[in-house]
Amino acid sequence: MRTGTAGPTRWPTITKDTGSFAVRPNLADYEATRRTFSWDQARNELSGLPGGQGLNMAYEAVDRHVVRGQGGREALRFIRADSGVQSLTYLELAGQSGKFATVLRELGIRRGERVFSLLGRCPDLYAAVLGTFKNGSVFCPLFSAFGPEPVRQRLHLGAARVLVTTRALYRKKVAPLRDSLPDLHVVLLVDADGTPEPETLDLAELMAAAVPLRDIEVTRPDDMALLHFTSGTTGTPKGAVHVHDAVTAHYATGRFALDLHPDDIYWCTADPGWVTGMSYGIIAPLVHGVTVVVDEEELDAERWYRILAEQRVTVWYTAPTALRMLMKAGPDKAAGHDLSALRFVASVGEPLNPEVVMWGQDVLGLPVHDNWWQTETGGIMIANYPAMPIRPGSMGRPLPGIEAGLVARDADGKPLLRDGEALLVNDPDSIGELALRPGWPSMFRGYLNEEERYRRCFAGGWYLTGDLARRDADGYYWFVGRGDDVIKSSGHLIGPFEVESCLMEHPAVAEAGVIGVPDPVAGQLVKAFVELRQGYGQSEELRLDIIGFARKRLGAAVAPRLLDFTPSLPRTRSGKILRRLLKSRELGLPEGDLSTLEQAPEQRP
Ligand code: ATP
Ligand code: MG
Repeated sequence: MRTGTAGPTRWPTITKDTGSFAVRPNLADYEATRRTFSWDQARNELSGLPGGQGLNMAYEAVDRHVVRGQGGREALRFIRADSGVQSLTYLELAGQSGKFATVLRELGIRRGERVFSLLGRCPDLYAAVLGTFKNGSVFCPLFSAFGPEPVRQRLHLGAARVLVTTRALYRKKVAPLRDSLPDLHVVLLVDADGTPEPETLDLAELMAAAVPLRDIEVTRPDDMALLHFTSGTTGTPKGAVHVHDAVTAHYATGRFALDLHPDDIYWCTADPGWVTGMSYGIIAPLVHGVTVVVDEEELDAERWYRILAEQRVTVWYTAPTALRMLMKAGPDKAAGHDLSALRFVASVGEPLNPEVVMWGQDVLGLPVHDNWWQTETGGIMIANYPAMPIRPGSMGRPLPGIEAGLVARDADGKPLLRDGEALLVNDPDSIGELALRPGWPSMFRGYLNEEERYRRCFAGGWYLTGDLARRDADGYYWFVGRGDDVIKSSGHLIGPFEVESCLMEHPAVAEAGVIGVPDPVAGQLVKAFVELRQGYGQSEELRLDIIGFARKRLGAAVAPRLLDFTPSLPRTRSGKILRRLLKSRELGLPEGDLSTLEQAPEQRP
């Protein structure tokens, strides 16, 4: 299977002076690190619970630093809406989370029971996450902008026992449906201010009376710690189950892909309602003892540049959609902000267009590292990581401890097996389904209540990711598209990412979403939806110009035949373009599960 062009190779490889990266020496040699690394080695670098038994995420993230005399270090730095700053040390965070654990215990919440949050990025959230682990219970973050029904659905699916939220969110999204949630035993309000709402409790009051839990519940590496709902890009969100041992992967990947050192000022912009906001917004950086910047506000170009500069951020983890937003805001916005502390930018969640990597190089003067992973993998699997030359448009190479492969598929998209083993595609530039050898610590252990769906993710010795990719001769992986988004046109297999990235090179195009629409002759035709940059108006002339531009670069077989302008592309709240919605709207089909659809501000619940 081939696509019509060899697009990615048009971009220059970015080699870096790794000397300026303060990369740990053992990272400089990718191959050697892969050969010598083992998960047990990473596990041994963590301390485990005192007394030699058990592994607990919260202990590794917080208490371990206190025990080692590092409790005075700054753990969290909250940037308030008014730009005021509130800091919490590791010692304070250990105390706060210990108190939350006591609150749970005194309320009779036991190990394995589920604690949900419906909160923005406030200090109580961090105490709740870590305190839940300390009590041996399971944490499940929800995105605070969900509407009442998606909230109810997830609380119900996850059998929530406790919900931590604000008064306003509770009134609007939970109270009207509370009767249908008989398992929901306790609702804790972070802002009750002494006057709790009926059927809720005042968290501050309970915390004030609590003594930090002395003995962290002894959890084993395989005990459930987190429940994460996927982004819902392809359909109904699934509840992925993760265990305490995931912290081993957060630790190792935090080192390999994010190059975290204790003196780093680190900022992850992902909402804690998504897996990135949890794994890399809370756990991985705290395990490394860094200072984590938390912006309590939403995405805004001016504010973001200001935070990067004023807080002297050294490592920044964000998403392509945010970077494209900064690009759209123009280079002037970047100018005048001192980003000299920043070593590199890492990106995850969606394919990172080469155009964005080149923009990072030109405008920010910084390398932008792509990272690929999923809710299911629990941690970064493939990355263009700091010690490696960047190939713009590529996701990079598998991390140490990760074995990736491309599984061949039959005409129906099913994996091809021989003697029980999956057949792999090894020819450079051929496309296969990206697959991973099971066995890394942060791998999900099931979809909640969906045994069959979980089972279907594995075949012939591999975990199948549902994404299609190719690999070049040097082992770099190139994302082609989600299995469901890939377009078949006149015998060509076309990845929407390649077409979208090409369209973005046109000066008028800010963002693009590409789908296949049925055609009696070609099977499918490529159709693009395009958001224009500021200063460009829609016209037939521009439409034809963009199509002509793509045709010149991609060839007639791959370039879009059809192109519509749109004021904004539909996205999930985690920032991914919802191609399935573009498609169902185009074809007049039912729109499916839209619980994670980002709405225009005026439509937000
Ligand atoms: P659902 O599984 O509910 O449809 P989702 O797959 O979008 O939603 P996530 O687990 O949040 O939910 O996202 C993982 C997916 O995001 C990957 O499978 C891949 O399709 C995409 N993705 C993540 N990072 C990258 C990347 N660096 N390049 C390309 N695609 C990426
Ligand atoms: Mg998925």
